[in-house]
Amino acid sequence: MDTLLAEIAAVVGAANVLTGADVAARCVDWMSGAPCRAGAIVRPADTGELAATMRLCHAARQPVVTHGGLTGLVHGAEATPDEIAISLERMTAIEAVDPVGGSLTVQAGAPLQKVQEAAEAVDRQFALDLGARGSCTIGGNIATNAGGIRVIRYGMMRQQVLGLEAVLADGSVISSMNRMLKNNAGFDLKQLFIGSEGTLGIVTRAVLRLQPPTPDVRTALVACPSFAALTGLLAHMGQALGGSLAAFEVMWQSHYRLLTEESGRHTPPLVTDAPFYVILESLGTDPQSHAGQFSTALETALERELIADAVLAHSDAQRRGLWAIREDIEGLIEALAPLFTFDVSLPIPEMAAYVDTLERALARDRPGASMVTFGHLGDGNLHISIGAGSADADTRRAVEQLVYAPLAPLGGSISAEHGIGLEKRAYLGLSRSAEEIALMHALKQALDPHGLLNRYKVLAPEADPAPATETRP
Ligand code: FAD
Repeated sequence: MDTLLAEIAAVVGAANVLTGADVAARCVDWMSGAPCRAGAIVRPADTGELAATMRLCHAARQPVVTHGGLTGLVHGAEATPDEIAISLERMTAIEAVDPVGGSLTVQAGAPLQKVQEAAEAVDRQFALDLGARGSCTIGGNIATNAGGIRVIRYGMMRQQVLGLEAVLADGSVISSMNRMLKNNAGFDLKQLFIGSEGTLGIVTRAVLRLQPPTPDVRTALVACPSFAALTGLLAHMGQALGGSLAAFEVMWQSHYRLLTEESGRHTPPLVTDAPFYVILESLGTDPQSHAGQFSTALETALERELIADAVLAHSDAQRRGLWAIREDIEGLIEALAPLFTFDVSLPIPEMAAYVDTLERALARDRPGASMVTFGHLGDGNLHISIGAGSADADTRRAVEQLVYAPLAPLGGSISAEHGIGLEKRAYLGLSRSAEEIALMHALKQALDPHGLLNRYKVLAPEADPAPATETRP
């Protein structure tokens, strides 16, 4: 690898090839804090340098792993000592903003929050939002097809991308930097790179879709008396608020109680005896009419007994206080560590039965384990956190079986938004057919025949079956 690194240093500059302690100082797993184990980290400044780096790696048959903000939750950025990590941390420029056409052109290493702020500066908004906004990058968001807290209104990352540029395994550059909403000229190649977790190409730049501003944000936390009331509330708020409902984030009682009363990390804004709590958020333009619409919708929900109690945020600080409970992943880690987290999706009517089944199975097979549930229920997405007292491979596998096995019969998926990475690779067949997986392999073979990009991620290569757990800390 030393000769190759010297050649790469000639392209990106010696200061941008990190080795030894500089590599180990980087954490590749947000949950566990595990250090990077790559042989080196390379930091190109632009597409040209990245493409030249990949040409050298291709010639040397050198596998690489792409690094964005390293907030991914399925071990997608992990690397082994024989791999080189390519970090986009120097590729963060906002290249152009077009408020009239509603687009923003950016280098893929730009943090999500920087893009949101650049859109706000021209009185537009970039609609993707998630708890890791300060660290996660646009390239990572594209690679994982990130979801987040605005999906019911604006869709996932796929819906926010108008065009992109990617460097392929052989160093060639595919530029599909489309700026228009409509462009049906042949295959829409950008879709190959969205959600394929860096296995088909390295995203280097993107054209993102901007939305009109919705400066009036109304937020409430409500308590729901039953799952039927919860789904009734979702339907009611969607109807009563027209298209402006943007978040419907549910916390099962176990989650809400743990992060408020039990851990003392947050003062509970509502008493903790309801089975479900929901953060409702609506985005509008005119403060007066929007406030009226939001309050009326909540009052009607109260009258119809869809909610038992509600608290409205009257300031940005109060709004942030409500969201802080929902987004407090550190609190979950502190309370349940070692923690297994899952990100599943299900048809909404099946969710309560699924959670009950899982809780019962866990009590039967793992007495003493704790489970809390929350998630973007409006998108059919649940996050399940389980503390089973041990993080060893056997315990993990046993818990994974319990979580994943009931999904397929209910029409659910093992990954709603975090992706597959290394973590769920062994279970891909539960959510995708043999034909779908064969087509994924064919695409991988066509674009990356030597298997250099994000090796071992998403798809298990038959010829080189590295166990998914082997690279984990
Ligand atoms: P990384 O972690 O660096 O990489 C993720 C994967 O993408 C890896 O496989 C990597 O190799 C690949 N990759 C990264 N950059 C590129 C690129 N330029 N080209 C090709 N491949 C690339 N996710 C959600 O969907 N919704 C949420 O609500 C959400 N909330 C979160 C809250 C917290 C507190 C945390 C820590 C994470 C959350 N996540 C959520 C997960 C994570 O933030 C997203 O998956 C995010 O999109 C990852 O971006 P990143 O830049 O950190 O990517």
